[in-house]
Amino acid sequence: MNTINQEIRAANGVKIPQIGFGVYKLTKEEEFETAVGEAIRIGYRHFDTAKIYGNEKNLGKEIQKSRISREEFFITSKVWNTDHGYEATKKAFGETCKKLNVEYLDMYLIHFASPHYIETWRAMEELYLEGKIKVIGVANFEIQHIAELMRHSKIPPMINQIETHPEFPQNELHDYLVEHKILHEAWAPLGQGNKALLGNAELKKIAYHHNKTVAQIILRWHVQRGIIIIPKSSKPERIKENIQLFDFELSSEEMGKINQLNTGKRYSHSPTGYMISPLYNKLMKIFIK
Ligand code: NDP
Repeated sequence: MNTINQEIRAANGVKIPQIGFGVYKLTKEEEFETAVGEAIRIGYRHFDTAKIYGNEKNLGKEIQKSRISREEFFITSKVWNTDHGYEATKKAFGETCKKLNVEYLDMYLIHFASPHYIETWRAMEELYLEGKIKVIGVANFEIQHIAELMRHSKIPPMINQIETHPEFPQNELHDYLVEHKILHEAWAPLGQGNKALLGNAELKKIAYHHNKTVAQIILRWHVQRGIIIIPKSSKPERIKENIQLFDFELSSEEMGKINQLNTGKRYSHSPTGYMISPLYNKLMKIFIK
């Protein structure tokens, strides 16, 4: 199947498919197989996982099963909070590659700006220079974390993966990323499927006008902002609709109306709260063993 997708270039020229598929919370093996199998069949080639999702091995299996060459895929994983530091990151990277059954990663991100992320970055820079990672970046970093990282690094981060949706568009951070040539990637691009957001009257009107679903309108809004998106769905029909975004365009007036939905509401925890909880990290360490 030949699905249209756009590519966005990272600062080093590497092309990233703008629509990817997020696999967080796809933990049941059967559900995972159906969703990812369908995504590959439809034409998704960009997949976003993380050590903490516990499904790197399943993703590797589905990719192999497809018999499509490794080079056609764009695979992202992330360093978890318990693996910060130079040695631990190198080890975690090796384990992730082993689970995914790959020799290199297209993208590797620091999942949260937990303590020691500067040393983590040093390991990632080395892996990048050895050709084992094509794009290095961060997730859930705020401006001060990026600024600190750039002060201590040889290679600046190429991407920041952050919660972004119409209610939480991250305008200030977005402008900062654009200014520093760091790509903006949205997690929870659909506001985690929040019913109020997907039922919003203004979005419904725009969707009706374009003969599209509200989800497609939201995703198209991200696309026109130049953001990379990784919506997750376990349902084949939604997986298909989430990548059919290139046969219509939102007018500047429609973009403006969606911009007005900004309420500053996150659907998830603030990254700063997440990363400083030692109890949370301790529990996660037990959980992911
Ligand atoms: P999303 O915004 O992608 O929303 C997913 C939810 O929306 C699911 O409940 C899904 O339900 C529903 N949904 C999907 N498509 C549609 C549609 N077309 N119409 C209606 N409902 C729909 O949130 P996620 O939190 O899953 O984020 C996406 C990805 O981002 C994750 O999978 C993960 O890879 C990454 N992520 C990264 C984080 C980080 O810290 N770096 C944190 C969280 C996520 P259903 O499955 O039933 O279709």
